[in-house]
Amino acid sequence: MIKTDILIIGAGPTGLFAVFEAGLLKLKCHLIDALPQPGGQCSELYPKKPIYDIPAYPEILAGDLTDKLMEQCKQFEPGFTLGERADTIEKQDDGTFIVTTNKGTKHHAPVVAIAGGLGSFEPRKPLIDNLADYEDKGVEYMIKEPELYRGKKVVIAGGGDSALDWSIFLSDVAEEVTLIHRRNEFRGHLDSVEKVQELKSAGKINLITPAEVIGIEGDGKVEAVTIKQDAKTYKKECDHFVPLFGLSPKLGPIADWGLEIEKNAIKVNNALDYQTNIPGIYAIGDVNTYPGKLKLILCGFHEATLMCQSAYQIINPGKRYVLKYTTVAGVDGFDGTRK
Ligand code: FAD
Repeated sequence: MIKTDILIIGAGPTGLFAVFEAGLLKLKCHLIDALPQPGGQCSELYPKKPIYDIPAYPEILAGDLTDKLMEQCKQFEPGFTLGERADTIEKQDDGTFIVTTNKGTKHHAPVVAIAGGLGSFEPRKPLIDNLADYEDKGVEYMIKEPELYRGKKVVIAGGGDSALDWSIFLSDVAEEVTLIHRRNEFRGHLDSVEKVQELKSAGKINLITPAEVIGIEGDGKVEAVTIKQDAKTYKKECDHFVPLFGLSPKLGPIADWGLEIEKNAIKVNNALDYQTNIPGIYAIGDVNTYPGKLKLILCGFHEATLMCQSAYQIINPGKRYVLKYTTVAGVDGFDGTRK
């Protein structure tokens, strides 16, 4: 059982900044994210896109913003459960919560802050009858640990940047990499497409297009896939089948937690502290809704700050907290206390 003060669901920009604000109040945080890396939409959807509306950064790439937020919160030593989706929540008799993930990891905290953005990113899956039988037995929808593929035969399917980039990366790790795509044209960056063609010419990637995987075989784990190309079908031996068809966000199991939901977002008390209808559960960032809500990163930062102030009172009942500036060094005769 992982224990913390504030359990944050979602390690997007809002969740990461909440760690920093909580840290200033000496509150510990642990974050759960369905994705294998932090950063939420910024790292999953647009890491190379510049953002122009982060205060004091005239321009910053979304991926760099994630790195900076990680650097800023690192001093408060947050814990992470990555690559797992928060599935269930149980309120205990003492008012605390136990949140369990789809992999069975349990987390215990007096306060839960849902910073789930558009929801957890669920993989788009190919239509193969027995696909579910091989999940985590050779079928993976995202690559969390490239070393898993060392010396193995890997079939990757997809036509976007993930499929191209991982094929390129694994060509140096796996024994054999086969990239399969339904079309001859790829949707990814031109330089990645060119690199894949180079690796194909060098005999380091098998490129099979236009084709698709229509079946999986194996005794308890993936041993081969069936490929359909033109009117022919044939079998290809492999240890892993990795369909990388993109991820689509879904509010998912959080929608069944008894929270008030409006248009796929969680209603909160924005006049006070972004608490939901269940005391002790907050919703911050893109996942919440209230009159005038704007889905912007800087709004998530503000909401995270107010959430932490309110959570402090739940975690330290009756204890008075005096708001101070983070630094006052060099300001003579001022102790940092804000009136
Ligand atoms: P998210 O970034 O969505 O992160 C939420 C995280 O929660 C995700 O990682 C998800 O996997 C996780 N999660 C959800 N449910 C669960 C669960 N049950 N279990 C585990 N994990 C879960 N905003 C700006 O301010 N400026 C811009 O220029 C800008 N440009 C944008 C461009 C694009 C193309 C897009 C798509 C968005 C843009 N935005 C911009 C919006 C901005 O990205 C969002 O406002 C911001 O990402 C919200 O942050 P968040 O942390 O609230 O949520």
